Amino acid sequence: MDRMRGRNAGFRFAFFRKGARRIREGLEQIVFPEGAVCLGCGKISDGHTLCPVCRAELANGELLESWNQEDIAGVPAWSIRPHRGLARKLVLTLKHGTERRAGEELTGMLRSRPDYFPSFPPDTVVTWVPMPKRRRRERCIDHGKLLAEGVADELGLKCQALLLRTGGGRPQARLNMAGRERNLKNAFAPAEKITFPVLLVDDVLTTGTTARRCIGALRAAGAKEITFLAMTRAVGDR
Ligand SMILES: [Zn+2]
Repeated sequence: MDRMRGRNAGFRFAFFRKGARRIREGLEQIVFPEGAVCLGCGKISDGHTLCPVCRAELANGELLESWNQEDIAGVPAWSIRPHRGLARKLVLTLKHGTERRAGEELTGMLRSRPDYFPSFPPDTVVTWVPMPKRRRRERCIDHGKLLAEGVADELGLKCQALLLRTGGGRPQARLNMAGRERNLKNAFAPAEKITFPVLLVDDVLTTGTTARRCIGALRAAGAKEITFLAMTRAVGDR
């Protein structure tokens, strides 16, 4: 009898919580209808995620340092924009908030990719750097997965989880180079044997430690053709 009552209370609580969330989301839609407030400057927008000024800034700003390619562990590592200004703001909004639209704006930049950006064989699989489990629970969205899905959409490729997170739970941003290397030792393992080209996506390229570890795990699983793509690259931070 007691157990029944407990189960009912649990059910009712879940029902109430769901209802409360719907009401809150409904109110947010009235106060901040999607797209009415610019994600970049916070001013009233014309119904898009970014207002015309911010949209132009993202499309045309920092072009000299955009679409940068470098080498990380023998892999071409691309970054779309330097980690500054609006691109940086969108990365942080996506990483620390719950704004999916920030991710769409970032991956949408692929629509204006230059001629020298590589095209990928049709069997290429887009994948992402998996977050530690605890952090994935704390944050409502898996931003790496979201970006990988957006990139796959833009390039017409398949998106799939190829890496597992097996350690390295401390946030990399708070560690120095040696600490980063230690923290990420054995942090990633492949999810399956890889016989196809891989495009590994991450939000921001900083020291490249994370990318190197992931590339190592993908190679251990058999991957031969790997490309890395970050939305932004922290220029002064290396
Ligand atoms: Zn704006």
